[in-house]
Amino acid sequence: MRYSGFKVLWEGLTGNRGWKPVWREPEPKESYDIVIVGGGGHGLATAYYLAKQFGMTNIAVVEKGWIGSGNVGRNTTIIRSNYMLPGNEPFYEFSMKLWENLEQDFNYNAMVSQRGIINLFHSDPQRDAFARRGNAMRMAGADAVLLDRAGIEKHCPFLDFDNARFPIKGGLWQPRGGTVRHDAVAWGYARGADARGVDIIQNCEVTGFVMENGECKGVETSRGTIRAGKTAVCVAGSSGRVMEKAGMRLPIESHVLQAFVSEGLKPVIPGVITFGAGHFYVSQSDKGGLVFGGDIDGYNTYAQRGNLPVVEDVCEGGMAIMPMIGRARLLRMWGGVVDMSMDGSPFIDKTHIDGLYFNGGWCYGGFKATPASGYCYAHLLARDEPHPTATELRLDRFLTGNIIDEKGVGAQPNLH
Ligand SMILES: Cc1cc2nc3c(=O)[nH]c(=O)nc-3n(C[C@H](O)[C@H](O)[C@H](O)COP(=O)(O)OP(=O)(O)OC[C@H]3O[C@@H](n4cnc5c(N)ncnc54)[C@H](O)[C@@H]3O)c2cc1C
Repeated sequence: MRYSGFKVLWEGLTGNRGWKPVWREPEPKESYDIVIVGGGGHGLATAYYLAKQFGMTNIAVVEKGWIGSGNVGRNTTIIRSNYMLPGNEPFYEFSMKLWENLEQDFNYNAMVSQRGIINLFHSDPQRDAFARRGNAMRMAGADAVLLDRAGIEKHCPFLDFDNARFPIKGGLWQPRGGTVRHDAVAWGYARGADARGVDIIQNCEVTGFVMENGECKGVETSRGTIRAGKTAVCVAGSSGRVMEKAGMRLPIESHVLQAFVSEGLKPVIPGVITFGAGHFYVSQSDKGGLVFGGDIDGYNTYAQRGNLPVVEDVCEGGMAIMPMIGRARLLRMWGGVVDMSMDGSPFIDKTHIDGLYFNGGWCYGGFKATPASGYCYAHLLARDEPHPTATELRLDRFLTGNIIDEKGVGAQPNLH
């Protein structure tokens, strides 16, 4: 079924009896060409691009809960490509280009809203660092504009420019950044993959791998064994736990990251704004809620809930740039388990075990990467060679020293 304005009108006039389930609930088959472990944004996007771009449809996505129950439905929905290093920037810009055409591509309203992202700076050295980042972005074909204080005042007059500790001196603006409705991304990719024959199997937990002569031949699940020519893991915050079942220890830690939504307010925030002297980012949803977040909780955990010290820290960051946020009431908050790699950059790679592939290490930046991650993982699975924009997202980069230390925080990824 194709969705369109005409279809909505027609169904409205005829009692909404023509809508069909958006995906099937198939029983798992005995074997597939490819089994994707994890029905988050990345797993579903991988299945979609495998089917659409590479013509492979004998595929299952195996999800332990329901699709969208993980980080794809828990994030603060920000998309951007304001990265600096060559191993990252072309990949995230590729993702941005895929976002720009995504809704037409998978015929689903994902509310892609490119209202811009502004990273504020508060000191002269920080301005220099942002100018350098903006130049790197432009050299990679992305958009970046360095704004001075007057430029920021034009976009966001409500900010506290003269805060004694963190005066706002300007910001790096990416006009094409913005937000996307996160769960609609999971649903859109699921619908597109299902329509092409991919089996999306929910409530099916992978409990182990089928290993024969040192090769991975499929997965053991709570609903039986499923054999596969290739097994592609992308389970985000559960990466360590799942890959451990194949005897692999990853350069990844799991942490909880919290998100917050205020009561609905009149439109005030034009796009996404980030505080440059602490960790706070905010946008406003179409319903009016301020959607914001900040730092991870800072300890290793698999629990999808956080603690109050970080709530205080995040709210302090918000108060430093927009004190009026203190008048708004918090409506909802939740946590998600994020997979933090030791240089802060992700992996899309084959493992040393034949037939087993790994995608992870996205930490709190993987939502914006969803289209490119799916596309590049599909490319790797279909052709057994990395996509040109993902050649450096390798698992062995800590052995070879080719780390992608985007934020320059060295061996302290917990400070990201
Ligand atoms: C609070 C918060 C805010 C964030 N904000 C942003 C943001 O603004 N912008 C941005 O770019 N990124 C953001 N992120 C990060 C982003 O959400 C993640 O990096 C990304 O969603 C991870 O990829 P995914 O969608 O595939 O993960 P998930 O949706 O977590 O998918 C992984 C799936 O694997 C399943 N799984 C786990 N174990 C098994 C198993 N044994 N068997 C079968 N299935 C299994 C899980 O149930 C889950 O559904 C945020 C994350 C959080 C938590």
